Amino acid sequence: MKERIYLSSPHMGGTEKKYVDEAFETNWIAPLGPNVTGFEEALEAHLGSGFHVAALSSGTAAIHLALIQLGVGTGDEVICQSMTFSASANPIIYQGATPVFVDSEEDTWNICPKALEEAIKDRISKGTKPKAIIAVHLYGMPFKVDEVMAVANHYGIPVLEDSAEALGSLYKGKPCGTFGNLSILSFNGNKIITTSGGGALVTQDPAIKEKVVFWATQARDNAPHYQHSEIGYNYRLSNICAGIGRGQMEVLDKHVQLRRNNHSFYSEIFKDVTGVKVFTETSEDFYSNHWLTCITVDESNAFSTEALRVALAAENIESRPLWKPMHLQPVFENYPYYGANVAENLFKNGLCLPSGSNLTTEQKQRINNAITQIV
Ligand SMILES: *Cc1c(COP(=O)(O)O)cnc(C)c1O
Repeated sequence: MKERIYLSSPHMGGTEKKYVDEAFETNWIAPLGPNVTGFEEALEAHLGSGFHVAALSSGTAAIHLALIQLGVGTGDEVICQSMTFSASANPIIYQGATPVFVDSEEDTWNICPKALEEAIKDRISKGTKPKAIIAVHLYGMPFKVDEVMAVANHYGIPVLEDSAEALGSLYKGKPCGTFGNLSILSFNGNKIITTSGGGALVTQDPAIKEKVVFWATQARDNAPHYQHSEIGYNYRLSNICAGIGRGQMEVLDKHVQLRRNNHSFYSEIFKDVTGVKVFTETSEDFYSNHWLTCITVDESNAFSTEALRVALAAENIESRPLWKPMHLQPVFENYPYYGANVAENLFKNGLCLPSGSNLTTEQKQRINNAITQIV
């Protein structure tokens, strides 16, 4: 069997181990410590002045604490982009709230501002004003920030920006992770940078950061004994994992460039293939990190995405259909949904291709050969 080519695998830059070794040498093995602070500072430097970052154990934990900070609880409704990874929506259920799913639009594959407004109006007319909106930058492509924020602001509903896939992406020149009332990042093993597992919450209010860190470290009141007036969580990032993150931040820009090069590589392969579209920015406002390069295929004019997936798998090359929308998931299918069939069609006709920043020339050659055979 040929060596496996993954969709997106961890890619170390070289200095990660130095920070982890430092943690061992100074016995900062317990949670917290200088790597956590250093990693948060590196993220804050990337996002720009005025942003405060709380490093957490996962992106999912960050979404959970963001919903708590936004006051989401039992009986509330939270609007969520339907086309996303389940981790965007699960914390709504953790909080005993109801998800309301909204369709995507064609340009960015992200939450459709029109369907969003339709959903808000209808929920209000039924007696419940949504408590928050979760919008996602899928595959690194920024959502239509101005349009989505305009709708959210008009109705006075806070936006939780799920930037788990979009560290290094820009909208109108500004970094993703800086647009929501609260934002989250993920450093899971398959993301553009990884801490082996981790996430972060981004806020412009230092008091919110302090509160989030308090909840993330078991909500211990200030007392010599263990005293608790609130429910806590064990959601802080460890000093070991944060060491990996510090090293990864040193290569973030390079990794964005490498992922964008992968996107050019696929654009070149498919440029003359009828029926195949490589997912790309539709205007200068958008700059994607191209975390994953994705294609959509018009089956009546070309091959089926499933045929391509199987052909790649036969060469031990991983590829995957696009995110299956949440309103089609067995666990979420009974919740309200607003929109048409945009996300559904993307799911039917789309495929994610191997996009790691560590793809070698030989691996790309193998991918090219396998694709060429089927097209
Ligand atoms: C990865 C991901 C998350 C969750 O992040 P974890 O760190 O894996 O918990 C949330 N939302 C989206 C869109 C993601 O891709």
